[in-house]
Amino acid sequence: MATHEKVDVVIVGAGASGSVYAAVLAQAGKKVVVLEQGPDWQLKDLISSDFWGRRIKPASGPFLLEGKNPFGYVYQAGWGVGGAALHYFANFPRLLPNDFKIKSEHGRALDWPISYDDVAPYYDKVADDIGVSGDAKAEEKWRPAGKPYPMPPMKTFRHGEVWLKGFESVGIRMVPAAVGMNSTEFKGRAACIYDGWCHVGCPIGALANPIVTYLADAKKAGAEVRARSTVTRVLTNPQGTKAVGVEYYDDKKERQVQEATVVVLAAWSAQIPRLLLNSATDKHPKGLANSSGLVGKYMMAHFASGTWALFDEDVQNHMGTTGAQFMSYDRYGKTSHQGAFGSSFITAGSALKTSDLAGIPNARVDLFGADLHAFMQRAKRGLTRIGAFGEELPNIENRIELASDKDEFGMPFARIVHSFDQDAVALWNANFEEGLKIARATGAKESWSGRGNMPTIHLMGGTIMGTAAGNSVVNSYGQTHEVPNLYVAGPGIFPTGGASNPTYTIFALSLRGAEQLASKWSTVAG
Ligand SMILES: Cc1cc2nc3c(=O)[nH]c(=O)nc-3n(C[C@H](O)[C@H](O)[C@H](O)COP(=O)(O)OP(=O)(O)OC[C@H]3O[C@@H](n4cnc5c(N)ncnc54)[C@H](O)[C@@H]3O)c2cc1C
Ligand code: SF4
Repeated sequence: MATHEKVDVVIVGAGASGSVYAAVLAQAGKKVVVLEQGPDWQLKDLISSDFWGRRIKPASGPFLLEGKNPFGYVYQAGWGVGGAALHYFANFPRLLPNDFKIKSEHGRALDWPISYDDVAPYYDKVADDIGVSGDAKAEEKWRPAGKPYPMPPMKTFRHGEVWLKGFESVGIRMVPAAVGMNSTEFKGRAACIYDGWCHVGCPIGALANPIVTYLADAKKAGAEVRARSTVTRVLTNPQGTKAVGVEYYDDKKERQVQEATVVVLAAWSAQIPRLLLNSATDKHPKGLANSSGLVGKYMMAHFASGTWALFDEDVQNHMGTTGAQFMSYDRYGKTSHQGAFGSSFITAGSALKTSDLAGIPNARVDLFGADLHAFMQRAKRGLTRIGAFGEELPNIENRIELASDKDEFGMPFARIVHSFDQDAVALWNANFEEGLKIARATGAKESWSGRGNMPTIHLMGGTIMGTAAGNSVVNSYGQTHEVPNLYVAGPGIFPTGGASNPTYTIFALSLRGAEQLASKWSTVAG
């Protein structure tokens, strides 16, 4: 075992949230080490092929997936430098003001300890830092005004445009989607070429993944990224009042200790509760930062209702990006659909290959043989899809807890127990119904709902933020209530998830937390 020279900050996880902390703190002159369990991916490893693309994703995880709607861990998780954000679709909607106060406005779920106005300046800063394309003015029909995006909207294609009259028929206003992709060259990074391979990573750097954005800034400012380093515990002083570093296993599976003045856990919503629970000591018998018993509780997912339509024309469905061309918050009100509760966020126009989209078949799964062949002949040029993401409310029964099985480092597996409630199912159904109405109004030859098992997308919660240790694990900056020099970053700190894809908010909250940490360094570091 080796103990490494003490640094100012050790960050666990080199994905979306960890990269922001690394950049801000390294630029503030701190000595930063980022420990990442997976490989040190480079742009040249991102090969535009579904088969090759599997290499950059986890093959499995140390989780037992349980409940009525087991969480789809492998599809959602990241593995390696860049995290899941290395190969995300970069849809960048934001949470809206109504997300921050559901409890006050509807008596349901939880309020955030902050409001939209606290996060809004950071949405603007992130857009300028990493590049967002979109039309902010057009979005401002649904949210308070902010800065324009640094790039104009992305190009649109026929497979998105064919849906517009359908949306109009039900009164849904679509605007250009906000995406973390370059519609023009941005800070020396290339403009998108619309070849639709974002889901296996963008080899030209047009997608705002961490390795070409915050992590590049962090390295320039002196941060060290140590790949193939799997963290198993946060270490604390004998009094249990301070984190003193982390234990990890290197590429040779040898135990190492990295001492640090501040520890930031940015290992995504699944791994962070597992790490905190596995860091129990006599001073923290239920796990670190867990006197409330809330570590691993209130796990949430989004679900999506996809509607397909087949056109008898070449709609260039292979072109574009895997993000959306158009989006709408017109069903974002919590009571937009009668008999259902929660927000919906609508997207249209992602590129579709004839093969699959990272494991989701772009075909009718009920067809075989000659029928499937005939369908694919038409689908290869005429298949299109829209989607509505739905909000799942926090439920304390949806949880992560340690299991008795152990991984190769002797660390207990965890179980993720997840079931959707009736509200979620009702919202899922309502969005399918409306999707079909929209599809029929497009004049498409055929349309159908993409029903299967109810999907679980974007894991959130598990280390939620709140006003005090009694109702939450961290404060609004991600600082744990119980151990002041231990921070948590990422979607785990969301107390509710809205219906918007989370990563724009993850970047914004991480920037807010990291800037606070840098400015309050002497108080936090002690
Ligand atoms: C296919 C796909 C499409 C997506 N599309 C969108 C989208 O359009 N819009 C959107 O907003 N979001 C999207 N997401 C989600 C988005 O990628 C995540 O929300 C985001 O990356 C989460 O950020 P994070 O920092 O919490 O975790 P990650 O970015 O996943 O980073 C966590 C890192 O921690 C590492 N790690 C975990 N455990 C340990 C450990 N014990 N020791 C060391 N390192 C560890 C992991 O290997 C990983 O690299 C998509 C995700 C996927 C997979
Ligand atoms: S469509 Fe654009 S962002 Fe996506 S992989 Fe291709 S060039 Fe990159």
